[in-house]
Amino acid sequence: MKVWTVVNQKGGVGKTTTSISIAGSLCALGYKVLLVDLDPHASLTHYLGVDADNLTVSLYEVFMQNPSKDFDINNALHTTKVDNLILLPSHIALATLDKSFGNSPGKGLVIKNALSALANDFDFVIIDCPPVLGVLMVNGLVAADKILIPTQTEHLALRGLARMLKTIEQLSSSLKADASVMIIATLFDRRVNACLLAYSNMRSVYKGLIWRGYIPVDTKFRDASYEGVPVNILASQCRGAFAYDKLTNELLKNVV
Ligand code: ADP
Ligand code: MG
Repeated sequence: MKVWTVVNQKGGVGKTTTSISIAGSLCALGYKVLLVDLDPHASLTHYLGVDADNLTVSLYEVFMQNPSKDFDINNALHTTKVDNLILLPSHIALATLDKSFGNSPGKGLVIKNALSALANDFDFVIIDCPPVLGVLMVNGLVAADKILIPTQTEHLALRGLARMLKTIEQLSSSLKADASVMIIATLFDRRVNACLLAYSNMRSVYKGLIWRGYIPVDTKFRDASYEGVPVNILASQCRGAFAYDKLTNELLKNVV
């Protein structure tokens, strides 16, 4: 089982879209995938048709479990409209974790430890992080074999990217030794000069870290979220699905 964590301290850059789209591409290739929604806003959970406000077992219970008691993480899992795509849903109560966890030891290891119980059940875990640096994001990063940073192709997003890379650097001693980082240019519109400039700037500044392709703007993403399925299930031939398939194939190249 490999864990790919999708993260950026900026909102609206395509984290949730990237998480579900890569998961959809992996499922189409026959892999069994677990999507973990670490964002208390629960966009991914709602996207997949699960009502995060009325869950009795969610990621919140995974965090609050008493390790001495029997807690079965399988009770928190939900099937989706897609075969082999399973969701570990979020809950608004996750927003309170930073307060309740304080500086308790091992607070960054909850997800990594919880996932180890599922190691034989899934080929890939995709973790969708909140845009806030806190205990949730740290848990996502600590569990990661790959760290994927979707970055909107616009000037202001580049500052957020620099901040995110600094955070990863600061946490490096807690991360898996072989965890790799990949920047993914998103929301690219080649008709817009500002997008072209930001993209070429990203490519030159982050040469070794950035994926050589880009994710184009495509209205099919909105249609897919309305239908509650990954974009490749709704329209396998659209530009957006094609780009995420290409990215997924690239990510699979160096999976041992
Ligand atoms: P984040 O999780 O980083 O906040 P989202 O993935 O939720 O970002 O994307 C924010 C909004 O932009 C959503 O409405 C989503 O449907 C839309 N969006 C994301 N990527 C694209 C894209 N490549 N083309 C068009 N719309 C997109
Ligand atoms: Mg999101």
